[in-house]
Amino acid sequence: MTHAASDPAAAPTGDPYRGRKPLPLAWLGYAYATAVGLAWGSILSTGRIERRDGLWIFRGMPNWAFGRGGSCVGACYLTDTNISEAVIRHERVHRSQWRHYGLLMPLLYFRAGRDPLRNRFEIEAGLEDGGYLRRVPDAESEGV
Ligand SMILES: [Zn+2]
Repeated sequence: MTHAASDPAAAPTGDPYRGRKPLPLAWLGYAYATAVGLAWGSILSTGRIERRDGLWIFRGMPNWAFGRGGSCVGACYLTDTNISEAVIRHERVHRSQWRHYGLLMPLLYFRAGRDPLRNRFEIEAGLEDGGYLRRVPDAESEGV
C-alpha cells in the first residue's frame, strides 16, 4: 500500500476502498478481469502501453473496443487518447471498485444505470474527473 496523502489535489478522489474488506473471491474476479484487459489491450492497442500507479494504460485502442472515453477492466484502462491526469485518477477508482467487487462489478455497474450522473460507481470515481461534469469554479450545486 502506498501513501498518497502528501498530494492535496488527489485527496477528494483518493481510494474510497482503502481499508474496506473486498467481497469474497473478489480478488479472483479482479485477477481474471485484469488478465482479460491485458490480453485485449495487448492485441488491440496501437499506442503506448504504460503502468501508472498500478493501472495499466493502453492507448490507441480502436473506438469499438471500449465505452465512452475509455473502459476500465480490472487493473487495465483501455482508451484511445483520453489520458489526462484527472481521467487517470477517475479510472484508478474504477480499478479499486473492480478490486472490491470482482466479477460482480460489471453487473452492479450495469444495474446502477447508463446515466453517469446517477450511476453510483461514476459518482464515486468523480464525475468531473471522468469528464461527465464540467469543472466550473463558481457553479452552484445542481442537486446531485
Ligand atoms: Zn468512469
